Order: sequence, then structure tokens, then C-alpha cells
Amino acid sequence: MKSKVFFVPVKDAEDIDAVNRQLDVLLKGSEILSVLEKRGAVAVKMHFGEEGTDSFVRPDHLRLLCGEIAKKGAVPYLSDANTLYRGKRLNCEDHLEVAKAHGFTKEAVGAEIVIPDDRKEENVADVPIDREFIKRAKVCRCYLDAGALVAVTHFKGHGMTSFGGTLKNLGMGCATRAGKLAQHCDAVPSIYEDKCIGCGECETVCPVGALHMENDKSVLDTEKCIGCASCVAVCPSMALFVDFLAGDKIQKKMVEYAYAILKEQEGKACFLNFAVRINKECDCWSYGNERIAPDVGILASLDPVAIDKASLDLVNECCGKEIFVEFHPGKDPMVQLEYAQSLGLGSLDYELVRL
Ligand code: SF4
Ligand code: SF4
Repeated sequence: MKSKVFFVPVKDAEDIDAVNRQLDVLLKGSEILSVLEKRGAVAVKMHFGEEGTDSFVRPDHLRLLCGEIAKKGAVPYLSDANTLYRGKRLNCEDHLEVAKAHGFTKEAVGAEIVIPDDRKEENVADVPIDREFIKRAKVCRCYLDAGALVAVTHFKGHGMTSFGGTLKNLGMGCATRAGKLAQHCDAVPSIYEDKCIGCGECETVCPVGALHMENDKSVLDTEKCIGCASCVAVCPSMALFVDFLAGDKIQKKMVEYAYAILKEQEGKACFLNFAVRINKECDCWSYGNERIAPDVGILASLDPVAIDKASLDLVNECCGKEIFVEFHPGKDPMVQLEYAQSLGLGSLDYELVRL
């Protein structure tokens, strides 16, 4: 049987009231929120946007959504995990600050804003999934412990995964920093010697002693390196670089992480994709992230694979070409979708219901 994906068009994402009218039609017509009925605390998985970007899903839409969740007898809270890279969302304090700057406050959206601190053991879950690439997934516990889950995703391009949709919001977005590292890293880093300031941080964190200092410059023993990228995460001067674009493995690892979340939230999760303000890269980019497609609309489904496939198809249809392939050549958007289907997360076969 085909999975249902519900859709409302949006002509101009900046017309907040008009978008909210469409969102209201979508939430009521699709009835996806019925899975949240009396589920207690509901995690609304967000991306609050990196400092400097304006491409995130607007707080006004979250206010409407949270109001509808409350009508189901559940208590929503908005949440995202900290990032791996050194932006403004690396730790809880800064992450909350940027969320607030983008308008995400309890007063504005009618829900608490929760950033789990993955430096605290009690906030981390080590989930045995025994998949091809990931045996144990390190995710933020709050997304497993929540009574139910709503993924609110800004659909856009992505240099590592072709596009970023629901699967990425869940797989990469719910992972701890260690989990994000595990997904990103298969390659040995390179060192830009001219950028190295000789601080020695990389040598300190390397778990296998693959780095040492010579003449105040970091030197790598590629035979010892296990590609964990811990050094990349701590380097203050971006002197260490891993080619994250290499290979499709990251897409599959990301899907395996999504599997870790969804197997716990099976039957208790629903998904919204906002295919508007569609940029070349993800919302982690602060600046220079070009718009590559017109606003398309909002999608809703109980199937995370179907909603991403339908979003991809609609955006491509609107652009008259495979827009993400054009901007990210060599990245096949079907890798994550087909792999997710093979893991039983959902179906590529969908029925689009236009509301
Ligand atoms: S990637 Fe990991 S193992 Fe390799 S040098 Fe960096 S810290 Fe060490
Ligand atoms: S952490 Fe970066 S800047 Fe510091 S020694 Fe290592 S490579 Fe050089």
C-alpha cells in the first residue's frame, strides 16, 4: 500500500500569515497529529538555524503547531542537539542564545526550548542497532524518552547528502556530538600546515596517538589514524580537514542513526517538511548560502521516507530538473532514500494528497 503524503502549496514563505493558513489546512486535513494523542511530552525536533542564516522554519509556524499538539492532550517542547562544528550551536548556552535570537522562546512558541547537553552521561543513549555501519548509535536520550516525536524539517540541499530532509533531521540531528562524528568520519584528515598555530590540542585529543608536534606544527601518522575526526573538532584554526564529501557512506550511516530513533518512536512519530527558502546548503551555513529553488510548499506524513521522496520530487518538478544533483554533482539523493526503505523505515511508493 502506498504511503500518504499530504501537501499544501506555499507561494511566498515570507508571508507568514498565509503560510500559517496553509499549515492549519495541512495539520487538520492530514490528521498526522492524531498519533500524539495523550502521549505526554512530545519532542518537536527542530533546527533553529546557525547564527547569520534566515532559512529556518519560522517560530510563528511552531506556535501554531504547538497549539495543535496541545489540543491533542500532549505537551510539546522544541529541541535540537548541539553541533559538531565550531559554530554558535556548539554548546547549550550559545545554542539557546541563537534560538532566542531567531525568535524561539517559550513566550513566542508556547513551548519550552530544550537543548540536551551531551557532555552529561544521563543525556546520552547508546542504542544497540547492529546495522551494517553502525553497531551502537549515540543519540540524545530525550528523543527516545519523549512520549512521541514530531520532526519539523526545513527541506534544502546539502553538500554531503545531496539534500537534507526528515531523515537527516532525525539521523544527524538527534545524534550526540560523538554520534555525529561517527557518521561523518571515514577519512584520514589533512593538515594545512600554514594554518596550524601549534597549540597541540589535536595531539591531546587523538585517541590513538596519531598526532605529534614537530617545530610547532602538527604532524600526522596516517598508519595510526582511525579517522575519528576528534582532532578536526578541537582545532581552533581549521588547520585540520576531512573530506566529508567522499563516498556515500555518510548517507547510510545517517539513515542508520534515524533508524535508532524511529525504532523507539515507531507509531508515535509524524513528520513535516517545509520546502521553502530552499538553499544549496544546510541551515548550519551562516553566510553565502544561495537560494536554488522557488518556494514549493509544506508536506506532512507518517512515513519519513515517503515525505522526503515526495519533497524531492516536488522541488525537482518545480525546478524542471534534478536541482540537488546539479548543485551537488556526485551525490545521489536516492542513496539515503533507498537505504531507508531497505531498513524498513518507510516506502518510496507514495500517494500525494493535495489539500
Ligand atoms: S582523526 Fe582521530 S585518530 Fe586520526 S589523527 Fe585525528 S584524532 Fe587522531
Ligand atoms: S589543533 Fe590545529 S592548530 Fe592546534 S596544533 Fe593541532 S592542527 Fe595545529
